[in-house]
Amino acid sequence: MTEKNPTICLIEDNPEDREVFRRYLLQDTDYQYQFYEEETGEKGLILCRTVQPDCILLDYNLPDIDGLEFLTELADESNGLVPYAVVMLTGLQDEGTALQAIKSGAQDYLVKAEMTPGNLLRAIHNAIERTAMRRDLEQHRRELEKKNQEIQAFAYALAHDLRAPLRAITGFSQIVANDYSTDLDETGKHYVSNIVRACLQMDRIIDDLLSYTRIEHRAVRLKPVMLRYSLLQVIENCRRQANGEDASITLDERMPMVYGDPTLINQIFMNLIDNALTYVPPGVIAEIKISAREEKSFVTICVEDNGIGIPPKQYERIFAIFQRLHGDDLYPGTGIGLAIVKKATELLGGQVWVEPGPEQGSRFFVRLPGTG
Ligand code: ADP
Repeated sequence: MTEKNPTICLIEDNPEDREVFRRYLLQDTDYQYQFYEEETGEKGLILCRTVQPDCILLDYNLPDIDGLEFLTELADESNGLVPYAVVMLTGLQDEGTALQAIKSGAQDYLVKAEMTPGNLLRAIHNAIERTAMRRDLEQHRRELEKKNQEIQAFAYALAHDLRAPLRAITGFSQIVANDYSTDLDETGKHYVSNIVRACLQMDRIIDDLLSYTRIEHRAVRLKPVMLRYSLLQVIENCRRQANGEDASITLDERMPMVYGDPTLINQIFMNLIDNALTYVPPGVIAEIKISAREEKSFVTICVEDNGIGIPPKQYERIFAIFQRLHGDDLYPGTGIGLAIVKKATELLGGQVWVEPGPEQGSRFFVRLPGTG
């Protein structure tokens, strides 16, 4: 129990019933309740919003609105949850509706004719405890979300501030490598080229980290997007950047529209196609097929490759930030691409997952809301 003197709102039009409930509640040896009472739903709602009680005893059959409407009115607009402990009081014939009330957010219900002091107090104790626990969890979730945002902001600021000094180190070490190589012996040259390589890798990580954190900072702008048009542009860019001129990339003629943010959609497919071009065995030319199917209100897009494949036990892990399955010497990368894909997809209200390819390679699926 959260409070020593829990507040209870009795929303009940029958004065005799109210009297009985009050009498039962006075028998509670653990707690002393503070009572508030109203006879109609309209007034009851105002009372509950003003008092913010620990528990509401709600008659299902009120003269103006019924118990279910009362719960709907009481629900928090942001998450649809009823923020109070509600015990619904019903007649014998209302039992089916009472179960509906539980689904709509009431913690419990009691049939008036079967009520005893024992089952009333037990229902109230349980309802208050469960609601307090849910409030604690919600509070905890909000705190975690806030901490997460702070960490993201910190990562963004850090990445941003590291960029300038890193570019200076990269630039000067490249000057040493190019203009002073005659002054260095072989070991010196080797060291300087290692410095340049490490700096370029760090520069890539910082760029990717900035893209990752930026996703959270910019507003998501949803609108109907012509997938085919977006994908043709993305494919062109990926080919250019990854020197993938030889690769075969086929795109289904029929690509449905999706409802999304064009920038996020581009980021999702840029990373997936870039990976499909990268993770092929040495000497093999990448073959990528992009297709889509519409199901109900969603569109599922598949990016299939003939690459090295992914062990099934890594299917979850690869979507976490900085998780790589290969060393930089084999396949260069930062381990941020799929984390961007996952975050962008979730911001669009979609999902991403991976399955094995039909023969070899992998199939990445992205499910996005359709326009239908
Ligand atoms: P990066 O490619 O920069 O390493 P990602 O987050 O894009 O980072 O990918 C994480 C890891 O998942 C990669 O290091 C690679 O091991 C694996 N991976 C991603 N895409 C594919 C793919 N199409 N085929 C095989 N492995 C892949």
